[in-house]
Amino acid sequence: MTDPLLTVEHLATGYGDLRAVWDVSFQVWPGRITVLLGRNGSGKTTSLRAVAGLNPVHGGTMTYDGRSLESVAAHGRVALGVSYVQEGKRVFRTQTVRENLLLGGYSLKLRRRALENELDRIYELFPILHDKRDDPAGSLSGGQQQMVAIGQALMAKPRLLMLDEPSGGLAPSVVAEVMARVSALKDSGLAILLVEQAVEAAVDVADHVTVIDIGKVVVSSPVGEIDDLERIKDACMGR
Ligand code: ATP
Repeated sequence: MTDPLLTVEHLATGYGDLRAVWDVSFQVWPGRITVLLGRNGSGKTTSLRAVAGLNPVHGGTMTYDGRSLESVAAHGRVALGVSYVQEGKRVFRTQTVRENLLLGGYSLKLRRRALENELDRIYELFPILHDKRDDPAGSLSGGQQQMVAIGQALMAKPRLLMLDEPSGGLAPSVVAEVMARVSALKDSGLAILLVEQAVEAAVDVADHVTVIDIGKVVVSSPVGEIDDLERIKDACMGR
């Protein structure tokens, strides 16, 4: 197997001095999906925020592409290829789909032609966004808005894409569609870290599964070695 792009070991983090995560370890590989599962409040979002540089690290290490992330500010991590799609559909509702996507490419400081090429790449991944490119993003369905949010993150040309509950608030049929799109992103070699509540949908696309409970890892396994999904579901419910 290829080397991991991100290795998080014994992470302790929280909000200011308040500790929410005590001991979380996981890895994310290029072209693979690591899924972080766990019940509400178990520390999944807090862990992602620490990797993005938005929460302070109290202990442990985060190694990205062979270097320690701790001394790199949040915007520096974006420049290194770390992209984070926060929970909820963070689109600018009155801006068009195209304008939303262009905002994602802002940090690259590309010339117009290069930006247009990036846009075309996103439209290839999500053809519906091409069809709706001149519509206000707020007029799109929930699943389509999630694609805008993911497309916006992809415009920054990440190597690591962190997605926090992309299925949140979506109908089950739409969840399957969004997960299929997320899975397809692996083909380009992107390393994906996916936080989910929808256990079965997430396990379906996962290569590696890590379950957190009360800020600690309780299960960590390649998906092929999980022979008992009920055990994972139980762990996600704290049973
Ligand atoms: P969910 O699926 O509900 O988002 P989660 O696993 O992502 O759950 P976190 O959001 O990481 O859980 O929350 C972990 C702990 O941190 C919880 O006890 C939560 O109450 C606390 N927490 C979350 N956000 C803040 C905040 N802004 N300030 C202080 N504590 C917070």
